[in-house]
Amino acid sequence: MPEAQIIDGKKVAEQLRQELAEEVAALMKQGITPGLATVLVGEDPASQVYVRMKEKACAKVGLMSRGVRPPVDVPQKELIARIEELNRDPAIHGILVQLPLPKHLDTPEVLQHVSPDKDVDGFHPVNLGKLLSAKYWDELPTFIPCTPAGAIKLIDSTGTQIEGKRAVVVGRSLIVGKPVAMLLLARQATVTICHSRTRDLGAVTREADILVAAVGVPRLIEAEMVKPGAVVIDVGVNRLEEGLVGDVDFDQVIQVAGHVTPVPGGVGPMTITMLLANTVRSAKAQAS
Ligand code: NDP
Repeated sequence: MPEAQIIDGKKVAEQLRQELAEEVAALMKQGITPGLATVLVGEDPASQVYVRMKEKACAKVGLMSRGVRPPVDVPQKELIARIEELNRDPAIHGILVQLPLPKHLDTPEVLQHVSPDKDVDGFHPVNLGKLLSAKYWDELPTFIPCTPAGAIKLIDSTGTQIEGKRAVVVGRSLIVGKPVAMLLLARQATVTICHSRTRDLGAVTREADILVAAVGVPRLIEAEMVKPGAVVIDVGVNRLEEGLVGDVDFDQVIQVAGHVTPVPGGVGPMTITMLLANTVRSAKAQAS
């Protein structure tokens, strides 16, 4: 069997960002500059890097970003008051609260105070509820979580028809696993979700025409766990001494799969792109 085709997330993301830049230019002609508020509590170095990447990406497509930087010991009430100010600010179309928040803050409670109309991360219970309710793709909420949305775009970039296929998602987090599964369901796949208590994981994953790994265990998915010709999307980001590796043993799986994403350069670039896309969508929705 020939080697799998590598799904180039950077290339797909770049194409989408060009389209977004054109949409932003058109909005600016109408006097609207889409604006994203990036709320980063404290000075966690990894979170700082992520937020900086998001702000840079905003600038590249012409979005305005506004940094909000409460101190690490900000009281919950004060943080919520800052978010509510952003909810009322007409220059802000999207609010991103960088996670994880410091331990003294109640994350679900904080996220609930982001207006569902500016919830560009798609984590508000109203938007998650709408995602759960959608039977068809056109019933999805305006905002769907960015990494799952990016994963679907990457599957689409291979030309694979999702409808009717067997899809297996490994991981059931609210941020990745569950929403990816809901999106695949809304695209009419037959979906199985696996997690840490799944018995004989390989027997389940071998059934998958589309396999999404969102686990956080380096190279968990080995070649013999993959159906020949499958589309394999590796969401995992694991920092090892040798560098970043995914949840999929890329060098092995490439010998079996039909298409596979690399780490880095697969899902990662899509996550930020979908955040930009959600902010532009929000600006358009608020304009109309
Ligand atoms: P979580 O830790 O929240 O969830 C991990 C999931 O994997 C859980 O459902 C867990 O099961 C399951 N799991 C753990 N071990 C096993 C195992 N041995 N076999 C089967 N299932 C297992 O992680 P996230 O969903 O937040 O993130 C997953 C990965 O994706 C991480 O590497 C993260 O860094 C990466 N990520 C990448 C992003 C990107 O932009 N590229 C964005 C977000 C995340 P259980 O529920 O039973 O505990």
